[in-house]
Amino acid sequence: MFNRSRLNLAYWFALSMGSILIAFTGVVYTLEAEDKLQDFDEKLYLTVKDIDNRTYYRPEQGDWLLAKGTALVGENALSPQNELLYIRWYDRNWKLTQFVGSTHDLKQVMAPKKRFETIDINGVDGSEKQILRQLTVPIKYNKRVVGYIQAATPLAPLQADLNRTLVVLTLGVPVTLGIIGLTGWILGGIAMQPIRQSYERLQRFTADASHELRNPLAAILSNAQVALIPGVQGSSQEECVKEIETAAKAMSGLIDDLLFLARHEGPINGAALIEQISVGDLLKPLVDYGKTQAFRRNRTFVHDIPNHTATVKVNAQLLRRALTNLLDNAFKYTKDGGIVQLRLQVQANYVLIQVEDDGVGIPEADLLQIFERFYRVDAARSRHTGGFGLGLSIAQQVVRAHNGQITATSIVGKGSTFQVQLPRLKS
Ligand code: ADP
Repeated sequence: MFNRSRLNLAYWFALSMGSILIAFTGVVYTLEAEDKLQDFDEKLYLTVKDIDNRTYYRPEQGDWLLAKGTALVGENALSPQNELLYIRWYDRNWKLTQFVGSTHDLKQVMAPKKRFETIDINGVDGSEKQILRQLTVPIKYNKRVVGYIQAATPLAPLQADLNRTLVVLTLGVPVTLGIIGLTGWILGGIAMQPIRQSYERLQRFTADASHELRNPLAAILSNAQVALIPGVQGSSQEECVKEIETAAKAMSGLIDDLLFLARHEGPINGAALIEQISVGDLLKPLVDYGKTQAFRRNRTFVHDIPNHTATVKVNAQLLRRALTNLLDNAFKYTKDGGIVQLRLQVQANYVLIQVEDDGVGIPEADLLQIFERFYRVDAARSRHTGGFGLGLSIAQQVVRAHNGQITATSIVGKGSTFQVQLPRLKS
């Protein structure tokens, strides 16, 4: 599934970038061709203008002579330097008066439509088919047009030059397209990474949740089957029903936790429930809760909450739920007679709430993972104490939603400290 999506991404990326590349190459080639033709025309114009300057008009005879006195007839007017194929002189009525070079088209002389023209000559004078660039300029005498000079040069050098550019571009485009495709594939992989990770997380989460639900369900099923066996009555039956009740309660607790995590994913919603509250008021019910738990579980509960006016902007119900999870763990993972502490420290920009115990502790290798959903350091022990490994995930989700941080430090056999840091409002 991911490879297909990645391939699709690479395909569409290559297609769109390739279209842009081809259009861009086309534009570059056209501009280059226009530019080169302009240079070519300029060179032709300068050559013809030079011939014009050297052309001398004799009104009495009605002909033209080269300025240096050389008769215009003669191939010496064409030199390798000017690369001309022919030069023709016309009077103002387009009657040919002189010419040198190729006789191509001489019988059908007519005024050209444009100064510069691209024309074909097809095998005249025994020559091969050629494409020529022809320029026609008027000859002026006493500010009057008395005739025209027409000259042409083969376009072959320009064509060869453009063909070279075309070859480079034609070879360059597929290579660049290949690189674009490869880049698309790599970028597709990078883009798919977070989706793949969250998909895998979701899959793991679903598998873990199903696995956790299977145990209480199996207990319910087996106890129900035992209770229904003919002859099982009285205290045995009552025991089975009690087991069913315990398993059902566990399932209900797990489902509550799962729903809580799903409902409170991301930033806290329900702005109406967010209030400005002093940390003292926020922690008061937790002190009462700690006292009750300590009494019930035979632990010592120590609280150090200075009477401070520092306020926080929080959903108190959610935060108390998070802190209750920390307190519950502290009581759960501490031996009989152990000490659980709840402390508050107020700093300039934030408040620190600490839950400390002198219980079993958490190995260093597990400290980074204990906030993951369904993670338990010792699955057997945690199941015995009734945990599903969701309490710390819930606490972390809630604290993060309040722009806070939750961290844990621990020494195995000595105890653990969980620390919640929350931004405080400026007084
Ligand atoms: P659980 O419901 O299993 O307690 P939590 O998410 O609250 O799940 O905790 C995850 C795991 O982290 C627990 O299974 C336990 O192994 C470990 N843990 C959490 N708090 C403590 C603590 N105060 N002392 C020792 N271990 C702890």
